[in-house]
Amino acid sequence: MKIAVLAGDGIGPEIVAQAVRVLEVLRSDGLKFELEPGLLGGCAVDATGEPFPEATLKLVTTADAVLLGAVGGPQYDTLPRAQRPERGLLAIRKALNLFANLRPAVLYPELANASTLKPEVVAGLDILIVRELTGDIYFGEPRGIEQRAGQRVGFNTMIYSEAEIRRIAHVAFRAARKRSRRLCSVDKMNVLECTQLWREVVVETAAEYPDVELSHMLVDNAAMQLVRNPRQFDVMLTGNMFGDILSDEASMLTGSIGMLPSASLDDKNKGLYEPIHGSAPDIAGKDVANPLATILSVAMMLRYTFNQEPAAARIEEAVKKVLGQGYRTGDIYESGMKRVGTAGMGDAVLANL
Ligand code: NAD
Repeated sequence: MKIAVLAGDGIGPEIVAQAVRVLEVLRSDGLKFELEPGLLGGCAVDATGEPFPEATLKLVTTADAVLLGAVGGPQYDTLPRAQRPERGLLAIRKALNLFANLRPAVLYPELANASTLKPEVVAGLDILIVRELTGDIYFGEPRGIEQRAGQRVGFNTMIYSEAEIRRIAHVAFRAARKRSRRLCSVDKMNVLECTQLWREVVVETAAEYPDVELSHMLVDNAAMQLVRNPRQFDVMLTGNMFGDILSDEASMLTGSIGMLPSASLDDKNKGLYEPIHGSAPDIAGKDVANPLATILSVAMMLRYTFNQEPAAARIEEAVKKVLGQGYRTGDIYESGMKRVGTAGMGDAVLANL
């Protein structure tokens, strides 16, 4: 296994360093892989003038998985659009054809007070949102703003082929098999033909997964149920636009941005793994960032790309123990807990591994 490590900007290098320490413990216990660093984002612009240089493209194309910190920072905000760090992010997703975005929203019981919802509604929350990432109304043609009958009209096209729906449905069914075998597909089939097809194809695909319990929900109801009773969900499958909104809603249920990992996969389970948060320039270089989202991204990598479930579970278990022991970075700190910095949190995870 070859893992490309793109630390990126801001807190990226600090949090990725802790995730690499975790990987190295697993290596010393027999897991075989090599790590190769590369440049993406602002640091790549500084070194080469490009946010996604040719050498990084070569590296990620030959790697089995990519571990990414975060990119961006105020010093790059005035660059021409093509040189912005975020461009590198979009380009890498496109270059690797990462069509499946997996975002878990897990609220550890110890952090139930971090949510804006009542602890009894969210404690123990554990949802996985599977979002299609390369199709739908965000990419559909025709699109534009034009003059019609004397006024401006804006339009976009919501479009999915059955092949696009089927491949993301397979990802969701397989993910459900690695969890509690319940899948809820979210659509708007009462109004939109595109999502009527979505539902038909998901139902067809379900025939190959008789062991997974499939349900359907309209997106407006799903948005409501996520705040009313989020623990009813296990895996949620949805398209690009609905997934964009629902995954942000679900992540906010947990109230702790520094805790949430994500995966973006291609059709061979090659993946890009990253925390959902950004480069947090306000706290960069201060040893205060929470590295747990990045460490949990490594667990996702082991589960989804390398099929190493025991190693993935071992990391997640260590994180749970660390929280149980009261270790907290500033973002999740409550009085009475043990305050640690980025490296201190890494030490605590390693001790529990
Ligand atoms: P952000 O996620 O970087 O930060 C939002 C807030 O959360 C900040 O107060 C920050 O200090 C805090 N925070 C984030 N991660 C944390 C962690 N691990 N531990 C503790 N606190 C944490 O979002 P932003 O401030 O809107 O964006 C900053 C930069 O990051 C921008 O340049 C933006 O474009 C970029 N960004 C990159 C990605 C990515 O690389 N995937 C995603 C979002 C934003």
